[in-house]
Amino acid sequence: MLNYRRFKEINDLFAQGQTGKARHRLMEMQSSFIALRDEMNMLKVRVQTFEDILYLAQNLYKENGFYWLKTSGLKQGPFCPGCYENEGGLARLEKCRHGLHCPYCQANYAARTRSGTEGAEMPPRAANIIPFAR
Ligand SMILES: [Zn+2]
Repeated sequence: MLNYRRFKEINDLFAQGQTGKARHRLMEMQSSFIALRDEMNMLKVRVQTFEDILYLAQNLYKENGFYWLKTSGLKQGPFCPGCYENEGGLARLEKCRHGLHCPYCQANYAARTRSGTEGAEMPPRAANIIPFAR
């Protein structure tokens, strides 16, 4: 913690012409300032991490075996249950021919009931029609 009494002490040393001693005290204060700034930055990162965890705890939920995230009233997902439960990561599942596919862990999930993927933000994939050459 910064000791404000030190500022007066340094000022007095300069006033008395003891510049070497005053400079030494200033360097000590600079070191403690740098240490405090580093600690503050580390604590800011920790607070942000806890805020992220809290946000997920309040807005992430499991429905029909998949994870979903509520953001600004929108339902995001579905997210891979394997990735979240094993590594804490949110990997959005992609629609594939037989259901859903995780692009991160490569897991495939069989198609669920309609309500399982209803409200998903994934646009329906349009069929790619290749005309026959004549
Ligand atoms: Zn996955």
